[in-house]
Amino acid sequence: MSSTGLGGIGMTSQRTRNRLVERLRQKGIQDERVLDAIGAVPRHMFVDEAMATRAYEDSALPIGHGQTISQPYIVARMTEVLLGGGTLDKVLEVGTGSGYQAAVLAMLVQQVYTVERIQPLYRRARDLFYSLRIRNIRATHSDGTWGWEQHAPYDGILVTAAPDEVPESLLLQLAVGGRLVAPVGRSDGKQELQLITRTPDHFEREVLETVNFVPFLSGKST
Ligand code: SAH
Repeated sequence: MSSTGLGGIGMTSQRTRNRLVERLRQKGIQDERVLDAIGAVPRHMFVDEAMATRAYEDSALPIGHGQTISQPYIVARMTEVLLGGGTLDKVLEVGTGSGYQAAVLAMLVQQVYTVERIQPLYRRARDLFYSLRIRNIRATHSDGTWGWEQHAPYDGILVTAAPDEVPESLLLQLAVGGRLVAPVGRSDGKQELQLITRTPDHFEREVLETVNFVPFLSGKST
């Protein structure tokens, strides 16, 4: 994970990364563990080389196939909400995309499972986890509408594309006490970030803030 070539002009240096961390702090991210993880994960490795110089700006960037790597503030915010000040062992992410959010999670929880419906994105992220030697992420190419049953229940589920409603299978794969964070609503309008907590007999829903995500789509694509 070197920044050779770009390191020389400082666009991907640790100092540049630290500036991003300070911005996120100013924007209200408080969990120091999350800020440390953002400071440690080389976001420029998760975007095309042509975009690398913009990797530490607080903005979403295209990753091909009509998808985007989420804005760092949103990654930090969703991670912070998911952790809720505590710790989580097993987390499922729906929408691997570039793999960046999964890599941030991997620094903070024991085991990350991540699913992506677009095969080339899945492959690229999987190869990147391998080359960055991130060993606690398992990735698969599948439609996250159905979660990843085999490893359920999860202490946390993070959805990084916006469904009209959170699919029931995902709710059911949440452990009691588990937390699910998802952008909910139509992609042509405003979506709301929701935190859903599973209690022994129901699901509690809390609406957090307005967000803007790519749509959650069903079916696998090759
Ligand atoms: N977490 C990603 C964000 C990528 S954008 C990152 O850090 O880069 C959201 C991703 O969700 C896209 O790659 C899109 O293909 C994927 N997605 C949308 N609907 C999905 C579904 N039903 N199952 C799995 N992945 C889905």
